[in-house]
Amino acid sequence: MGVVRDPLRGRERPAPEHTDEQIVAAMTPIPPQRWAVLTGAGISTDSGIPDYRGPGSPARTPMTVQTFLSHPAQRARYWARGWIGWKRMTAVHPNAGHRALARIAPLGIITQNVDGLHQAAGSEPVIDLHGRLDRVVCLDCGLTLGRDRVQEELDALNPDFLAELAVSTETLETAPDGDVELEHTAGFRVFDCPRCGGLLKPDVVYFGESVPRPRVDAAFALVEEASGLAVLGTSLAVHSGLRFVRAAVKAGMPVVVVTDGPTRADELPVLRSISRVADFLAVWESALEGAG
Ligand SMILES: [Zn+2]
Repeated sequence: MGVVRDPLRGRERPAPEHTDEQIVAAMTPIPPQRWAVLTGAGISTDSGIPDYRGPGSPARTPMTVQTFLSHPAQRARYWARGWIGWKRMTAVHPNAGHRALARIAPLGIITQNVDGLHQAAGSEPVIDLHGRLDRVVCLDCGLTLGRDRVQEELDALNPDFLAELAVSTETLETAPDGDVELEHTAGFRVFDCPRCGGLLKPDVVYFGESVPRPRVDAAFALVEEASGLAVLGTSLAVHSGLRFVRAAVKAGMPVVVVTDGPTRADELPVLRSISRVADFLAVWESALEGAG
């Protein structure tokens, strides 16, 4: 048996023995409508959105909510980078994996992604555990705005910003949160709440923030209602997703984990495939078609 280097824990563990076909064979006695699905960045990489922690991804430290709130210059920097990044995010579309999952139509999807691509592919219900990049919320009065509206305001406030940048935006790296790597953001003017003048923040859960309780409860309810849990494209490096895997294991339900790198669920009793999510979903969908 081979070994796989585990960068999360810095030691080696046995390679899992399951292929996608073996896992799907174990899953098919339970109909797709009885599975809850938890997804992470690995399902969106084929849409051109990079993974923070996937194989080969550069080390990158996302901004914490504390930094965002306490430093006006950091806030301007966030919005400048997000303003450029959003122009690209609007051009991102669901990929074969999102579309296959929409056709498989599981009981429900819990996603750690903020890109809205499951909904764009037609899946429902979808619980956006970490929020949505296409919404902006006022931290003072709670007003919610569409990101497009905020984008228009930022366009109007910063007519010359792009022209004065010394770099071509084409060369900037996009991050999973729609951000781009951009160093010189001084002078970028941010847009404040049009109702109360308060601080606007993308409606996403930052590092250092908790997932809102009602959303956690809804996700637990979905897992409890299901007969199995399929975890696709996430290393489960953040606790917000791992707890659902623990709950499903504790409840004795089958748990399938598919991603092409190590995960924090690898020592739990799960069916594990080191595979690409889109490949696995093609195998699952094909088995369902064969059965139907
Ligand atoms: Zn407000």
